[in-house]
Amino acid sequence: MLKIENLHAEVDGKPILKGLTLAINPGEIHAIMGPNGAGKSTLAYTLGGRPGYDVTGGSVDFAGQDLLEMEPHERAAAGLFLGFQYPVEIPGVSNVQFLREALNSQRRNRGEAPLSGGEFLKVARAQADAMGMDMDMLKRPVNVGFSGGEKKRNEMVQMGIIDPRLAILDETDSGLDIDALRVVGEGINRIMRTPDKAVLLITHYQRLLDYVQPDFVHVLSAGRIVRSGGKELALELEREGYGALAA
Ligand code: ADP
Ligand code: MG
Ligand code: MG
Repeated sequence: MLKIENLHAEVDGKPILKGLTLAINPGEIHAIMGPNGAGKSTLAYTLGGRPGYDVTGGSVDFAGQDLLEMEPHERAAAGLFLGFQYPVEIPGVSNVQFLREALNSQRRNRGEAPLSGGEFLKVARAQADAMGMDMDMLKRPVNVGFSGGEKKRNEMVQMGIIDPRLAILDETDSGLDIDALRVVGEGINRIMRTPDKAVLLITHYQRLLDYVQPDFVHVLSAGRIVRSGGKELALELEREGYGALAA
């Protein structure tokens, strides 16, 4: 589904990713762990096509397409979803408006008919129910006045509605208390743990991985993957720290 080979990327002329190679198959959940400043968010932004993140070498194939040649909206239409550490607030635009437009623009890009207001609300209500979110919250402006936990819950509702093939979730666990962590973990499993989907879970801490069990764990350090293993590697990292392993 995703094949990253020898990826090099820089921000403001500063090399950050320095030869990153990673392959993700359908049905797999991969965790990327690593110290602050390792390049984890840079990887997520580069795959999402964020302006200012310049690829200087390597290749990325997404389901048979050259991802690096695609515009950000084309990447989304092809089934790529990015979840952020700090979800943005959008005053004046309701979640319902925002999500219906996001979903329908992707459907148009794929040559599918857009959903009517009523059809969309049915989909939205099912996803809100599954995340234990009140529909009233979906009618409020995007993330405005939401607590950290509510923003992450909202992000899972977004992901459920968009129904991506590949989700890249950047520190989606940051700032969550233990109950919110469980709810978000269950959301990721429910939406993404299927044979035709995959997840790249970027996290600094092991605790999210108690809820979302990764098939593979990778350690990113100074812009490269320096170690890969199974889920036991996350526990080892928690015990030993990054310093010992990345050396
Ligand atoms: P992580 O998510 O692993 O903590 P980041 O990808 O955020 O790491 O950052 C990797 C490196 O890139 C850090 O050294 C950081 O200071 C640098 N960096 C990130 N964003 C910028 C930017 N906009 N301009 C310059 N340097 C940046
Ligand atoms: Mg960081
Ligand atoms: Mg980061």
